[in-house]
Amino acid sequence: MTAVLSVDNLHKVFGTRPVLRGVSLDVAEHEVVALIGASGSGKSTLLRCINLLEPVDDGTIRLDGEDITDPRVNPDRVRRRIGIVFQAFNLFPHMSVLDNVTLAPRRVHRLPAAQAREQAMALLARIGLAELAGAYPDRLSGGQQQRVAIVRALINKPRLLLLDEVTSALDPELVGEVLALIRDLKADGMTMLLATHEMGFARQVADRVCFLDGGTLVEDGPPEQVLGEPREARTRQFLRRVI
Ligand code: ADP
Ligand code: MG
Repeated sequence: MTAVLSVDNLHKVFGTRPVLRGVSLDVAEHEVVALIGASGSGKSTLLRCINLLEPVDDGTIRLDGEDITDPRVNPDRVRRRIGIVFQAFNLFPHMSVLDNVTLAPRRVHRLPAAQAREQAMALLARIGLAELAGAYPDRLSGGQQQRVAIVRALINKPRLLLLDEVTSALDPELVGEVLALIRDLKADGMTMLLATHEMGFARQVADRVCFLDGGTLVEDGPPEQVLGEPREARTRQFLRRVI
């Protein structure tokens, strides 16, 4: 079976500084892969390259078998198939929750407003926030905002969801509700690649854990193995610091 995402020998250089040094990684359909590693190890850069927010210097990225690093590929068409959510809340402050969620389908997909609204309301109902559809983001807690940002990324029905430390900016008491939503999405079969600092969560929810160090994928395996019995000294060192 073709992987949903297949990254092969990816290189990315900022100026003279190599940030990704030949990263290869596959994510199969319905699989959840957690990306761990110290700050600066290249996790965000990898996710941004996959969503074509950064040009790559070498290597290929395939989405359902299609080489999306091919310069002839239309990046907007690719981004419609990949949802991405960042660490900081990404809602537009001057738009209601509903308008935030329907913006992409209205603008990019040219979906009729009524249809976009119906889909958005269904997603908001699912996360228990339908009542806040007309509110502005500043009325919502950080956890609510981040959950809206996640369902907004789902409205295109993406093949792949990329989550970049989506709980890092939250107060600790708000982390749980966002992790619970990610767990629900996994139960629905969403294919996800998520960078996270939450080792306990990675262990519970991920099918595989990948440890990135200095732009190199050092270890890739089941959570019990990578987090419980790491093979590589660099992984052990990292885990001693964070756990
Ligand atoms: P992580 O998400 O694992 O913390 P990043 O991918 O954000 O790591 O960063 C990896 C390295 O790339 C860091 O050294 C960072 O300073 C550098 N970097 C990231 N983005 C840029 C950029 N736009 N220009 C220059 N250097 C960058
Ligand atoms: Mg990062």
